[in-house]
Amino acid sequence: MTDAIQEPWLLTPGPLTTSRSTKEAMLRDWGSRDTAFIAMNARARERLVELAGGTGTHVAVPMQGSGTFAVEAMIGTFVPKEGKLLILVNGAYGKRMARICEVIGRSYATLETPEDVPCSPATLARALKADADITHVAAVHCETTSGILNPVKKIAEATAIAGRRLLIDAMSAFGAIACDANEIRFDALAASSNKCLEGAPGMGFVICRQTALERCAGNAHSLALDLHDQWVNMEKTKQWRFTPPTHVIAAFDRALAEHAAEGGVEGRGARYRRNCQILVDGMRALGFKTLLPDELQAPIIVTFHTPADPRFDFAVFYEALRRKGYVIYPGKLTVADSFRIGCIGRLGGAEMRGALAAIAETLEEMGVRALAPAA
Ligand SMILES: *Cc1c(COP(=O)(O)O)cnc(C)c1O
Repeated sequence: MTDAIQEPWLLTPGPLTTSRSTKEAMLRDWGSRDTAFIAMNARARERLVELAGGTGTHVAVPMQGSGTFAVEAMIGTFVPKEGKLLILVNGAYGKRMARICEVIGRSYATLETPEDVPCSPATLARALKADADITHVAAVHCETTSGILNPVKKIAEATAIAGRRLLIDAMSAFGAIACDANEIRFDALAASSNKCLEGAPGMGFVICRQTALERCAGNAHSLALDLHDQWVNMEKTKQWRFTPPTHVIAAFDRALAEHAAEGGVEGRGARYRRNCQILVDGMRALGFKTLLPDELQAPIIVTFHTPADPRFDFAVFYEALRRKGYVIYPGKLTVADSFRIGCIGRLGGAEMRGALAAIAETLEEMGVRALAPAA
């Protein structure tokens, strides 16, 4: 990961560090009708379906905007106006889906566990039995709030057994943690260009079961976020309905090629697992404590407890690390005082070890000694 850049390394879950070649792919303008540009779109859509194991059953529909635009498009398009969505919540992104339902007028219920507890498939099964109005279930694969991995396979099984349909927010996992449509039954899965696929931000996409999407005409609450309309138009004209994010797509095309060259989901996941191991081992050696036990930790982003030492001030810590070339992330938890460090993006062992060295140096400068969290 030795792209010679002066910019800081982003140890954050998006925007994140991209390769120089991915950035360079943006150094030209494309007309939306250019055949090479059209081929790039088709290639990306096909590759995304492949990565989800959905070839022959699923289609990929891209959506302009950040990841949340894709999630909102997924919910608005797939959950009909008379439907009801049961959302499994153990962090901010599950809560955001509930907020989306409120704003766009879809009825919903939530099944909430604390941020350090995975969603429970058994509780889900009971909830589905108890409420016949629920038509769809929504789950977050890796809840980026804490970094916890939710049991999507078992959630999919409980949903399918109850005859309901599953929507997955796989934003921070897709491309690094397998979610294969042959093993995990879903109607739609949303992710974006700028997380584990290491493209530039600005575009999301939803992998849709085609037979389910076909029935979604007229469901959407919004013109711009209508995935069915976007899909029908794209199939018919090979073009986006509205101005496509051409530079982002060109970068994404390049990023997907680099993802394939690294060994696809398996290879990308392996690098992130190594990054995560180096980070967790190094932080524990310094005395920090992770929020999650290793078996619940996804190799995407790690939450650390804030040390009890009164000399530890996150704002000072953050700024010092930023000056040393490493950007980390504040915590977003309600259960504990914390901060987060990401393992994703164009980062390898050297950058993770560099970050650890900068952290050790900064603690020394701040005079922080007691790294254990407050009791
Ligand atoms: C990043 C992320 C999103 C989307 O966030 P945006 O800021 O809109 O890109 C949604 N869900 C999860 C789990 C995420 O990690």
